[in-house]
Amino acid sequence: MKTFLCQCGNKLHFSNSQCVVCGLLLGFLPDDVQLSAFTRNRFGNLQASSNGRIYRQCKNYTDYNVCNWMVPFDENHDYCQSCQLNDIIPNLDVEQNKQLWYRLEQAKRRLLYTLYKLKLPVVNRSVEPDTGLGFAFLEDQVADEYGNELTVKNFVSTGHHAGIITINVNEAQHSSRMQMRELLNENYRTLIGHFRHESGHYYWDRLIKNSAQLMQFRALFGDETLDYATAMQDYYAKGPKQNWQNVWVSAYASMHPWEDWAETWAHYLHMVDTLETASDFDFSVSGNKVANPLVASGQHDQVYTATSFTHLFNDWCRLTAVLNGLNRSMGLDDAYPFVIPITALDKLRFVHQVVMETSEL
Ligand SMILES: [Zn+2]
Ligand SMILES: [Zn+2]
Ligand SMILES: [Zn+2]
Repeated sequence: MKTFLCQCGNKLHFSNSQCVVCGLLLGFLPDDVQLSAFTRNRFGNLQASSNGRIYRQCKNYTDYNVCNWMVPFDENHDYCQSCQLNDIIPNLDVEQNKQLWYRLEQAKRRLLYTLYKLKLPVVNRSVEPDTGLGFAFLEDQVADEYGNELTVKNFVSTGHHAGIITINVNEAQHSSRMQMRELLNENYRTLIGHFRHESGHYYWDRLIKNSAQLMQFRALFGDETLDYATAMQDYYAKGPKQNWQNVWVSAYASMHPWEDWAETWAHYLHMVDTLETASDFDFSVSGNKVANPLVASGQHDQVYTATSFTHLFNDWCRLTAVLNGLNRSMGLDDAYPFVIPITALDKLRFVHQVVMETSEL
């Protein structure tokens, strides 16, 4: 994620809605992948200082302040590109849900930013009603409206089905996410991680399922026609495959080829976003300047794809060593608690290849 500049020269961050120096309203322009300050023109409309164009605030910006994105003035929509993807939002009659919703939207927008920068297709359900991307933020139903415990409880699983990404609202609650992390013996569990993982399932359907890449996918990840329900039952009954550390990017990836793909995809998105951040801060390790992998190169041949991945991964190894070292100095857990075995590296290279072939980067 890069930082942005206000018209006053102040550095701005992706989630900002007001400049702390000049006080101007800020908004993100999805059509320009840019955060901009706004002034009112002589007709009272909001004009972006970054490109001079006129915009409106998204309705979730003005009504709830859970969004900081803008809608081009001539677009016939109340909601921004990100909020248009919402299929179900949390029940706002529950007091704490507004804050949880805010966190969910933040993580969603961060995912979308990277998808836009990678120039991957983000198609909403008004264009493709059965397969387009949509989000449902749902809560477990454990009590009735009077607070009485239900005999038949309904627990929401975070997951993906035919374009709809469902996220359990509880995952936006730090304490319950940490509880799940402990329970499942995971060393990394974040809200953005869920969005990235589930987007992997969406893109598997879009980019791999009916494509020429399917054979290469199977050669690397295994046969995805393996019964998913049995694989899941086995995973939760017996735990991850033995010695998973030597083969998979995470324990969960060992459950089924689809989960392996989604974990690898999420990992790739962690890498490119974090590398973009480091590059934006002009970060160097031992004299090696971190490059931004989200800059268009205009090159699409196989040799470039292979060398660009090697470069990206070398930057990543240097950067994560520093990242973990800094966290340890602060007495925090490792920011990057992963070791990438060689087979997982081949899979990450494949994700890079698929992304490069799909996008115009
Ligand atoms: Zn400013
Ligand atoms: Zn919005
Ligand atoms: Zn999954």
